[in-house]
Amino acid sequence: MTASEPSPRIFRFAPSPNGRLHLGHAYSALLNADLSARAGARLLLRLEDIDTTRCTPELEQGLLEDLQWLGFRHESPVRCQSRHFADYQAALGALIEEGLAYPAFMTRGEIRRFAEGFAEREGRPWPADPDGAPLYPGLDRALAPSEREGRIAAGEPYAWRLDMEAALARLGEDLAFVEWDDEAQVSVRAEPGVWGDVVLARRDVPTSYHLSVVIDDALQGVSDVVRGRDLLPSTSVHRVLQALLGLRAPRYRHHDLILGADGRKLAKSRGDVSLRAFARSGLTPADIRRMVGLSASTPASL
Ligand code: GLU
Repeated sequence: MTASEPSPRIFRFAPSPNGRLHLGHAYSALLNADLSARAGARLLLRLEDIDTTRCTPELEQGLLEDLQWLGFRHESPVRCQSRHFADYQAALGALIEEGLAYPAFMTRGEIRRFAEGFAEREGRPWPADPDGAPLYPGLDRALAPSEREGRIAAGEPYAWRLDMEAALARLGEDLAFVEWDDEAQVSVRAEPGVWGDVVLARRDVPTSYHLSVVIDDALQGVSDVVRGRDLLPSTSVHRVLQALLGLRAPRYRHHDLILGADGRKLAKSRGDVSLRAFARSGLTPADIRRMVGLSASTPASL
């Protein structure tokens, strides 16, 4: 490629192999394929398998087979996050070094009990994050260094959390991200404050969804993130991490979700009908395209 040619855009589909793929994944994968083909862009597949207990080699194999069956063509190699923990640890180390991350000992159960206690005492609910989980109250942020060190030395498990207030003060400006669809491209103001001190590294894994997705999109040169609307609120957190770590922000397109007959979002955990089950019942990839509302044409002919 000569210097005057613009580098191609890069799209990616980034599922987690923690269950069988369903129609919602098919829509996201095919939309990425269609849009990247239309843009003459590259298309990557990334396996977000940091949860090494829920993501198994069998599920990973099944996911690859389902995508193959669907006709989802991507570049090789596939990046598997569980093989790149060192990349995420390096970024976490930088945030710790800057005094923007701290060890947090409270478990999810303790946070829930804190929220319940607050609601009982105050007669109003403790705030929840956009996913509906009670906001982490930030108690561990204020621990005296000696107590913190003592608890770590005693082997108490802890997560690393971002000190959101300190991070936003450090950045000192409002952040925004670019959201696009076929009609327009708009700038959306990021609202990371609603998440509070998000987890950067879990107790059991040396990273988190937010940290690894941001690092990988940057490392892989992703220009366009096309993913479900359920992740739109998370993008605000991603902008903060990109800004803190000096990473280029991709453009985003958060697509509608495919809902089940009950109007709820499809979920692997509720056993919503898998692509594999549709294939076994005789449906074809073209049927799946129609079911998710995509034209029957192949991406290349769009
Ligand atoms: N791994 C995430 C999921 O399966 C998607 C992450 C993303 O596209 O940013 O829900």
